[in-house]
Amino acid sequence: MIQMKEVYKKYPNGVVAVNGISVDIKQGEFVYVVGPSGAGKSTFIKLMYREEIPTSGEVIINGINTSKLKKREIPHFRRKLGVVFQDFKLLPKLTVYENVAFAMEVIEEQPKTIRKRVLEVLDLVGLKHKIRMFPNELSGGEQQRVSIARSIVNMPKVVIADEPTGNLDPETSWDIMKIFEDINSLGTTVVMATHNREIVNKIRKRVITIDGGMIVRDVFGGDYGYEI
Ligand code: ADP
Ligand code: ADP
Repeated sequence: MIQMKEVYKKYPNGVVAVNGISVDIKQGEFVYVVGPSGAGKSTFIKLMYREEIPTSGEVIINGINTSKLKKREIPHFRRKLGVVFQDFKLLPKLTVYENVAFAMEVIEEQPKTIRKRVLEVLDLVGLKHKIRMFPNELSGGEQQRVSIARSIVNMPKVVIADEPTGNLDPETSWDIMKIFEDINSLGTTVVMATHNREIVNKIRKRVITIDGGMIVRDVFGGDYGYEI
């Protein structure tokens, strides 16, 4: 599903953000990525959705080597991944419904299919009653639900999340985690960078710890471990 082989990523300014990572994440896994600020977590995750390509080594997602993707092939590649960000990245001028539908419109799904599927995922995240609202009329937790709905609307095999609960209060964070667990229980691989120690220690999953651009620990059912 997700494979990295001897991956290095050096930014143009000379910073080596990923310094020799090899990892294998299988279909259906739930993986937390933890580690101190500046450790390379975001870069590790950006390599997965081809926001970045490695300076050397290989990143293979669903059998596709991201370095070999042509520019015109990237949109098609991204469709098979759902991505969720800390700051939601919703389109402010579109309603909840439209934000989610948009992800299906760009791949030219049938209007009937879109309508059915959008309502289905908004129901899954508990927002069916707010489909006509705009992002600025929603709480942070609700906005993150919309962003999760958008990430799964095209039925990706993997959902990648970079600090999805970073802007949310603890209670809302637990609700959002419940949704990720539901998505994972339906067979979708989930990879999540997080600083949320309580969640990692309570909802036990595989924990990959990154420090200095390297994987320093990789434990199934592990704890947050890292002390600040
Ligand atoms: P984390 O997500 O663990 O905080 P990042 O992957 O964001 O780590 O950053 C790892 C290192 O790479 C940091 O030193 C950061 O400043 C640097 N870095 C991240 N993105 C860029 C970029 N686009 N250009 C240059 N340096 C970057
Ligand atoms: P986070 O802590 O949420 O991982 P960061 O503060 O590391 O976020 O990075 C925010 C954005 O700025 C990212 O897109 C990252 O690639 C970019 N960035 C981080 N560090 C640098 C840097 N030293 N130079 C240029 N861009 C950077």
